[in-house]
Amino acid sequence: MVHLNEKQDALYLEDTYLTAIDTSVTAAGRDETGGAWVALRRNLFHPQGGGQPADRGRLGEHEVVPVRDPATGLVVLRAGEGAAEGAGAGLDGLAEGDLVHARIDAGLRLLHAALHTAGHLVEAAARAEGWTLAGNNHFPGQARVELTPPGAEAAARLTDAGERERAADRLRAFVVAAVADDLPVTAHHDDEGRRVVRIGDVHAAPCGGTHVRSLADLLEVTISGVKLKKGRVRVSYSAAHRPPR
Ligand SMILES: [Zn+2]
Repeated sequence: MVHLNEKQDALYLEDTYLTAIDTSVTAAGRDETGGAWVALRRNLFHPQGGGQPADRGRLGEHEVVPVRDPATGLVVLRAGEGAAEGAGAGLDGLAEGDLVHARIDAGLRLLHAALHTAGHLVEAAARAEGWTLAGNNHFPGQARVELTPPGAEAAARLTDAGERERAADRLRAFVVAAVADDLPVTAHHDDEGRRVVRIGDVHAAPCGGTHVRSLADLLEVTISGVKLKKGRVRVSYSAAHRPPR
């Protein structure tokens, strides 16, 4: 069991495919604007972070959005955009110890996990080019990995469109081979307590996101192109999740 916080378990780190659960309220309160928030003892919801967008879902009948509270480290749920008007929109009736039913938007979770895992895979392919990770974004419609070439000479070569296209083709071949091999995606904690995510033996990185079980869960990992922007290589991609097995 992962304890990010002694008051809350992070179930989303343990099982990407768990989409509903009965649990209890571990903390509840109001923010500075008067809006009610609730934290679950066993938390299903991935908050936005690490380049991955937040889950959406419901607590009972109430539409909620998770946010990590920087003060406590707890993932707290607030009323979602589609919720009825009014402070807390129904969450204000909940108190510590109350039993609740929580569920996430499963389709969105799978899409986020697919895009996130594909991001690791694209990063692995790009590292094989000698590039170093500089940033990533796993949001639907804008997914990309940004990397730094190993030096001025390597960067200069990439100003050539043909060179970039050949690099993109090598990345695509790497991705296709890894998906065909159905490499497993696993997570473990290292000696320092960091969660490290691995794809077979081609990639390992500290990460707090949600991932698919193995690369055969990915459908249509598409690298749309390699660009050079302000000295950084930008690899744009998209991915989807195969219908759940
Ligand atoms: Zn990850």
